[in-house]
Amino acid sequence: TTPADWERSDNFHNSHLLRKDEALDAAIQNSEANGLPPISVSPAAGQLLYLLAKSIGAKRILEVGTLGGYSTIHLARALPDDGKVITLELSEHHAKVATENITKAGLASKVDIIVGPALDSLQKIESEPKFDFVFIDADKINTLNYFMEAKRLLRKGGVIYVDNVIRGGLVADPVDTSENSDGVRKLILALKDDEEVEGTTIGTATGQGYDGFLYAVKK
Ligand code: SAM
Repeated sequence: TTPADWERSDNFHNSHLLRKDEALDAAIQNSEANGLPPISVSPAAGQLLYLLAKSIGAKRILEVGTLGGYSTIHLARALPDDGKVITLELSEHHAKVATENITKAGLASKVDIIVGPALDSLQKIESEPKFDFVFIDADKINTLNYFMEAKRLLRKGGVIYVDNVIRGGLVADPVDTSENSDGVRKLILALKDDEEVEGTTIGTATGQGYDGFLYAVKK
């Protein structure tokens, strides 16, 4: 099969499983109008994040990499009334657009955006109460650092979901020494001897190409 087949398959499944969603459509449009890059999670992956967070009854969610808040909206919707997403974003402009999108989706009370380098923000976040779910989707160089911080801030049984860990197979290609592949590869190598989590990577072939995510649970 080819990427065109993957895209057609994606469209077919999405057209049957995903409902029309004005808040999400508006978030994408407003992000584009404000010059944000089109690098949000796909609609199906957004729905998966929502379902996973909901499945574990998450009340506190941490997100690294907000962009325009597209994934944040999915995550916040999984929360009970008193739940919270704390989302970390380097760019003030991205955070401003995300605030608009999240407010328009009626979720402002459930989301706190912290602007600045995520590693600095993570080091300042109190580890109590612990988080139930962490979604890592920012600069790939820091992936392992984010993962280590996420583990510290996560409850036992909590989930860490790391996006873009396959990158068209390049993460497994020793010849590829690009910053992004290297950053993710460091995490995968570190997991070999990590006794604190159990995890698996799942590959996805979609209209956006061949990639995948890591799903890890803290023991
Ligand atoms: N999770 C978003 C979604 O699916 O809608 C997409 C996030 S986008 C792939 C990555 C984001 O990480 C960008 O908005 C970028 O500005 C941000 N970022 C890059 N480096 C960062 C850093 N050091 N600290 C915090 N955020 C960073």
